[in-house]
Amino acid sequence: MASNILIVEDEAKIARFIELELAHEGYRCEKAEDGRTGLELAESGRFDLVLLDIMLPQLNGLEVLRRLRKTSDVPVIVLTARDAVMDKVSGLDMGADDYVTKPFAIEELLARIRLALRRRGSAKAAEEVLSAGGLTLSVPRHEVKFGGTDIDLTSREFALLQVLLENKNVVLSRDSLLEKVWGFDFLGETNVVDVYVRYLRSKIDSVFGVNLIQTVRGVGYVIREGNE
Ligand code: CA
Repeated sequence: MASNILIVEDEAKIARFIELELAHEGYRCEKAEDGRTGLELAESGRFDLVLLDIMLPQLNGLEVLRRLRKTSDVPVIVLTARDAVMDKVSGLDMGADDYVTKPFAIEELLARIRLALRRRGSAKAAEEVLSAGGLTLSVPRHEVKFGGTDIDLTSREFALLQVLLENKNVVLSRDSLLEKVWGFDFLGETNVVDVYVRYLRSKIDSVFGVNLIQTVRGVGYVIREGNE
């Protein structure tokens, strides 16, 4: 999905130029012309990244950043004037992810944007916790809990549960589970999936009295949540 970028810049020409270039790269953009509107929009949580000018009417960019950081860790790239060293330092101190000095080459801005989005993407993945109905699975910690109680899984059971949780509400066929969990070159029987689902059920469903992993007859398995 296209990343959503907020441009907070009061100089209409610059804002429009950035917007066109970003749209050309496939990003979705919105603009704000003053600090107060920019802060409100940035706090909405709808954006993957904010480009923030410093010299803005109503609230300056540093003040926007200071307030925004109380509630949000959205990546922010500060746009500063070439000689405004203090703005760069303050911006980074206040939690900006990066800065670009004006006037800038659009390629540089695009590179900074890609970098900030990539960093945020990997930070998110590292924190990732999957969940369904009382069950949580933390990928980096390799930890599964039900209502706070640890569940001890083998690495293959963990991988199978992870795939099912990543595809919550999507029915996965045995073949597709085999491919995702055991790999293309698996030479065993497809009923190994059924065997491992049984293992998971004996460690989760039976112990906690739930029906987490559902069989869809003739198709495969699914973990459902929310729309039963
Ligand atoms: Ca300005």
